[in-house]
Amino acid sequence: MIYVPSRMGQLNRRALLRRLQKLGIASRAELAKSLGMSQPTAGKIVDELIAADVLEEVDMAETSVGETSLRGRPGRKLRLNHSKSRLLAIQLGLQSTTVTPLALGIPDVDEWQCQFSLAPNESESARVWENQLRAAAKKIGREDFLGALVSVPGVLDEQANRILFSPNLHWTEKSDLAQIVRRVWKLPVLLVQEERALALGHHLANPDCEDFLLVDFGEGVGGAIIVDGKPFANPLPISGEIGHTPVLGNSRKCGCGATGCMETLVSLRGLLESFSTATRGKKNTWPQLREHISEKGIEPWLASSLDAAATAIAGALNVLGLRRVFVTGSLTELPPAVMAHLSQAIESGSMWAKFGRVECVAAPRRRTAGLIAMGIDRLIVPDSDTKSFSLQKIASRNQA
Ligand SMILES: [Zn+2]
Repeated sequence: MIYVPSRMGQLNRRALLRRLQKLGIASRAELAKSLGMSQPTAGKIVDELIAADVLEEVDMAETSVGETSLRGRPGRKLRLNHSKSRLLAIQLGLQSTTVTPLALGIPDVDEWQCQFSLAPNESESARVWENQLRAAAKKIGREDFLGALVSVPGVLDEQANRILFSPNLHWTEKSDLAQIVRRVWKLPVLLVQEERALALGHHLANPDCEDFLLVDFGEGVGGAIIVDGKPFANPLPISGEIGHTPVLGNSRKCGCGATGCMETLVSLRGLLESFSTATRGKKNTWPQLREHISEKGIEPWLASSLDAAATAIAGALNVLGLRRVFVTGSLTELPPAVMAHLSQAIESGSMWAKFGRVECVAAPRRRTAGLIAMGIDRLIVPDSDTKSFSLQKIASRNQA
């Protein structure tokens, strides 16, 4: 292998940032030691990253309880910059878009500063979206962002930064969303598949959990897979499209063009449609459904919908050899009997359960954490030189 100093430097930066993400907080010496780097090498990278506002130093006295104090004089420790917003996050949902500035520390919960509804008419969507982003830009102000990350539904070509197919938002297939965002903010823009963002966020918050399937239930049903701590199947994240698995006997039409997809039964709309039918149109709202389940438990119509989801999930586990499922979104907001039923049904369909243990656990959505992980990996220390950011450039701009 040819030794290329700049590439080596980038690999060291990535390694150091990854380690710090995992540790949360560490001294220069601890970082160097745990990475097997010399102290001068680690120190140089740290100085560069501090100058670029990617890392910040904190006094030990300021850090939260539970961290071991150093013997002797309290030292300064390092963490990802919590104080300055370095990234802009945009979340495109089926009904609305949310926008927020993000610092690089892992947020406990997703919080969005601006929210606006999508245009009701598909032919106007792109134009209205751009105008709404301009309004959001005014509200948020021109902070010194390193780049923008846009969480999007559908099948995304990450390399081309384009949406190939979006069952529920077809207008995004014909629009260059990255270009629209660039026109508003003049920043490097990365589209991130929404379920992949959730899975990366879950992994960032739980770094020891390296192999899992995450399934999100909401306006649609989607999944993402993390294997060995990394998203499965680059660059087309089509691997988690679990919601479009056909269910025998289901005649509902899906936005993807097929008939009988699982998500038509267990998406928010799908569940409410079945609930309305089961109560002869008397009840059809989410709070009513919650109350109904608390009173009546899992009725046959709900059981068969959950079983359909579990069958698709168990199939995915059997193919991938995974035994952990994290469920986020609407199903986790329903009474616990729902997750218990789903979990039981997944277990009975999965090979792992025959001789080991299958875990199916509710988890919070951590989309902003996933966007931060993606921003650090692809914008701040990218592994290819093509879209490389110059940290020196950022640092000199900060000092100017
Ligand atoms: Zn479908």
